[in-house]
Amino acid sequence: MGKRRTLFTGARLIDREGSISSELTVVEEGGVITAVSTSQDVLPSDRVINCDNRFISPGLVNLHTHSPMNLFKGIAEDVTPDDWFNREIWPYESKIDASDVEAGARLAVSEMLDYGVTAFADHYFEASRICDVAIETGIRADIAPTLFGMAGGFEEQLAASEELIGKRNGEKGRLSLRLGPHSPYTCSPDQLAMCADSAASLGVGAHLHVEDDFAQIEASRKFYDLTPMEVVSRSGLMDVPLIIGHAYWILPEERKLIKENNWIAVCMKTYMKLGTPPGPLQDNPGSLPLCIGTDGAASSNSLNPLEQARLFALAGKSRQGNAETLPLKTVWQMLMRGHEALPFGTGSLIPGSPADFVVWNLDLPNTAPAYNPLASLIYSSDARNAEHVIIAGEFVKQDGKLKLDTKEIVREAKERVRGILQKGKGSTKLVF
Ligand SMILES: [Zn+2]
Repeated sequence: MGKRRTLFTGARLIDREGSISSELTVVEEGGVITAVSTSQDVLPSDRVINCDNRFISPGLVNLHTHSPMNLFKGIAEDVTPDDWFNREIWPYESKIDASDVEAGARLAVSEMLDYGVTAFADHYFEASRICDVAIETGIRADIAPTLFGMAGGFEEQLAASEELIGKRNGEKGRLSLRLGPHSPYTCSPDQLAMCADSAASLGVGAHLHVEDDFAQIEASRKFYDLTPMEVVSRSGLMDVPLIIGHAYWILPEERKLIKENNWIAVCMKTYMKLGTPPGPLQDNPGSLPLCIGTDGAASSNSLNPLEQARLFALAGKSRQGNAETLPLKTVWQMLMRGHEALPFGTGSLIPGSPADFVVWNLDLPNTAPAYNPLASLIYSSDARNAEHVIIAGEFVKQDGKLKLDTKEIVREAKERVRGILQKGKGSTKLVF
């Protein structure tokens, strides 16, 4: 007997460019899309999912987050970025343990799956526990174990990252690992160069934060006589596949430093929430390889890439006083570009592609009548519109319901939070 085939019949397909097809049938077999056609004969072993009046798109990608920080969602509100880091988040983070990390990651993954996220890029410590959560939940995860330069023991941290990468990179087609220096303001140029060398010799990429605020550029110029982007460029990190969190303040003269296989994860809600003055990226996205991230829930409060894309488009239109800027297709392409930044081969709805996609129901009060499905998705949708979410052919959400035990996940997260609050804030060697 052959593998079970699943037919998704009668759906209109939204591709990576934002073009929309007429009604088609998508055939999934063994985790892969094996056919896309106007009709398919149903075989006795087939499962048929009626997708009349539905839309299918590749899954959403969240290209920059810190999933365990879901435990800190709402803990530091209405504070300056300085207080957010130094008085709230880092002191609490200094007290959390591997089990906290795991519980936070599980909470984050269940939230992301609900929104239709099929792959995410994470940046955090105790990363092996995040790997466990990805494997257990079925989501695809690109994980960068966070390395801080100023906390001491950098070489030991780097060796531990290399060991984890060796052990788990590529596991079950669900995991990809890369080097995760935190940023040029918490790691020295030498440490960044060590990460670049290590990534190149292991054949993996890297992921770090660069220039979410102008203050970082001023400080770096004072210290190194170079901008943070120049420091990163000289380190060699841009020669490996690189995810750059933010680049919100990338200067016009720095744009030429960005190389092929470098990707920028914009996290608009975080900048707005922390009162970051609008950066040049906002005024002129140009041809930069922009993708969408959410950052951690401690600053963004939610891990919904569609919401981040929405805010980016709205803020851009408002700032420029121009409704024609950042049109729907451009914003949709930002959402989809994250697939190119990750090594999973996802993001296409053509035969031979991994069966990672979302079946959207736009016939709901918040999105109907859906004249323009891209407008419905970007400006009106939320988790309820993601009716089925499929990763490698497996339903992780079906008929609007997650397969995970969310009650238990929330209970566990709240229990971990009680423990963290009992321990209270610790001291940290980090300074923002
Ligand atoms: Zn971040």
